[in-house]
Amino acid sequence: MTSHLTLNNGVEIPAIGFGVFQTPPDETQVAVASALETGYRLIDTAAAYANERGVGDALKASGLDRDEVFLESKVWISDYGYDQTLHAYEKSARKLQVDVIDLFILHQALPSEFDKTIAAYKALEALLADGKVRAIGVSNFMIEHLERLLSETDIVPAVNQIEVHPYFQQRELQAFGAERGILTQAWSPIGGITSYRGDDSKSTFNDPVIVSIAEAHGKSAAQVMLRWHIQHGVQAIPKSVKPARIAENFDVFDFELTAEEIARIDDLDTGVRGGPEPEVITLEAFGRDIPEE
Ligand code: NDP
Repeated sequence: MTSHLTLNNGVEIPAIGFGVFQTPPDETQVAVASALETGYRLIDTAAAYANERGVGDALKASGLDRDEVFLESKVWISDYGYDQTLHAYEKSARKLQVDVIDLFILHQALPSEFDKTIAAYKALEALLADGKVRAIGVSNFMIEHLERLLSETDIVPAVNQIEVHPYFQQRELQAFGAERGILTQAWSPIGGITSYRGDDSKSTFNDPVIVSIAEAHGKSAAQVMLRWHIQHGVQAIPKSVKPARIAENFDVFDFELTAEEIARIDDLDTGVRGGPEPEVITLEAFGRDIPEE
């Protein structure tokens, strides 16, 4: 039994999806096939992950109808600008091997070239009007970026995909979005970024509070963190390449955290970001060519 959230344009999105950041292109089809087999119906990829084709291959091979699976992808900053972003859609759709991408979002704001960011978003608005995407949104936008976007464009983003896990919760940004109908999608929802650089001592998976709550429910730390997102109304996209973990991360619909347990996890926020500061994203530092095929 899964559950859904409703985007600001009425489109339904599964509460738990599957992420493929850092999943090598040649392992992506197998990982996504495992996720679809498990029951995930949302896959989150990005042009910059270089594995959209593996996602599309897995979807095709699954035998599932296209409308049973919610596909999400992201435009990389090197493809910002109105015409460039329309073309970025063609590249992503070709690799995913679909006619419609369910949710297409800007991967980052480009604070030093915000006009390009606005032009890219206007291209997303055009894709939405053309029926090529079912919803549009953004990622890693801070409040000031959202304010500017909202003042210069017509369609309120359906989502803002941002770093959210027990150690970095961005509650002010989440609240700003919620007041305007922008759903928070949590990236690194189980705190992958707190351990994927190899330092397990700072990992959410080993946090004593999370581990003790997990023990009380006979669940894992990852499952408790995902439950925490679900009960906060936050959409989450955990990633794994391991079938047992892929299954574990989806087995979160048969237990509930108490209000007290949720409050204890809320208290773990350190305010320290794991990912890059959104302000430092520039084409010079992060630009990279997104291939046609
Ligand atoms: P996650 O919080 O999903 O954690 C993934 C890491 O935790 C991997 O190292 C994985 O290893 C490990 N892991 C997965 N499940 C378990 C488990 N049950 N127990 C213990 N370890 C586990 O981090 P991500 O950073 O991958 O974020 C998830 C998704 O969010 C990405 O895949 C991507 O789709 C999106 N994302 C978006 C960003 C953006 O800028 N918009 C930035 C970063 C991520 P293994 O695979 O070996 O199991």
